[in-house]
Amino acid sequence: MHQPLEALARVRRAFGEHGGVNRSIEASTTFTVLEAGIMPEIFQGLRSPETGGCYLYGRHFNPTVYALGRELAALEGTEAAHCTASGMSAISATLMQLCKPGDHIVASKVLYGGTYALLQNYLPDRCQVRCTMVDVDDLAALEAAFTPTTRVLYVETMSNPTLVIADLPRLAALAHRRGALLVVDNTFCPLIVNPVQHGADIVLHSLTKFISGASDIIAGAVCGSQELINSLMDVNHGGFMLLGPTMDPKVAFELSLRLPHLGLRIQEHSRRAQVFAERLHARGLSVIYPGLKTHAQHALLQGMGNTEAYGAGGVFCVDMGDTASAFRLMNALQNLQDFGYIAVSLGYFDTLLSCSAVSTSSEMPEAQQLSAGLSPGLVRISIGYTGSLEQRWQQFDEALQSLGL
Ligand code: PLP
Repeated sequence: MHQPLEALARVRRAFGEHGGVNRSIEASTTFTVLEAGIMPEIFQGLRSPETGGCYLYGRHFNPTVYALGRELAALEGTEAAHCTASGMSAISATLMQLCKPGDHIVASKVLYGGTYALLQNYLPDRCQVRCTMVDVDDLAALEAAFTPTTRVLYVETMSNPTLVIADLPRLAALAHRRGALLVVDNTFCPLIVNPVQHGADIVLHSLTKFISGASDIIAGAVCGSQELINSLMDVNHGGFMLLGPTMDPKVAFELSLRLPHLGLRIQEHSRRAQVFAERLHARGLSVIYPGLKTHAQHALLQGMGNTEAYGAGGVFCVDMGDTASAFRLMNALQNLQDFGYIAVSLGYFDTLLSCSAVSTSSEMPEAQQLSAGLSPGLVRISIGYTGSLEQRWQQFDEALQSLGL
């Protein structure tokens, strides 16, 4: 079994310029070569950080960004990884690299709203890449959605915001049988699930969330084969090289310093989410959390993920039934109790509350939301770990009492 943190610890740490325990930030946008003949070899793809340790230009490889990529590859157990300016740029550039006009994608119908819009609007309108969205639980429907031009099966390990768990081994088997790649967005589950171990070909991340942990950085990553990363960085045809969603080296440096304590943070997010989900469920609220036995894929996540060490993740949802009730709960939690912030995003050290149907999933038309199991009253709660758990529970409890719940 892949041990992400052990693999990460094996990545050779570069020392700083003056022997510092942290590597130095390579801020240069351009790099010298020792001999003029080396330059054309870099352009031809014959030399790279891997072959000859050559760097060219900051939109191509940068040593600091490259080092973070190696760490993320270790975390996800892939041959290589590359970091980008956002999660969306990692997703869009990867899908555009894998698909050409006329190609087709089969995707889960429960996805982050931005990804939904990319697949439903942008890719068909601008790139003639069509997408069919189906229920990831329904293997027969998935199978039926494949066409001879299907190149990609796209899912989120744990869907945003409905927290549906994708059965990655079965999806990988299906995709591979139909000659497609399984591409997985693992943003909600770093360390908890290692998609490649279950047959995924490419793992995408919004590093903006748990991996950053401080809601101060927008960033993304694609983890996959060396061949995929090389193709994305190709000077003639590469989506990263030509679309240019380059990560700033200072951002890469910052993120690299947060990876060693990612495990501790995820453990505490999950511990608190589990306790809150259990208590709210016991109180009669409609709670969605894969750590609850009542969750339809509870056993699947336990079998597929490292839940013993890292739990079931830092996000749970409370379905208040309608938008007005969702707003009342969020207002009480933020404005009466200082329990958290009404804000989008997740993975922050403090709690973030949002009503997905009218915010980060509003790109999905209402009918699609309902068919994807997304209730208008769903409050997505990314639980933080500031303060003590009991202090936070008391605040939540008082917010509920103020609403007569
Ligand atoms: N994937 C998932 C599951 C997300 O929740 C998000 C953002 O919320 C993204 C991708 C996009 O990431 P970014 O905002 O870093 O572009």
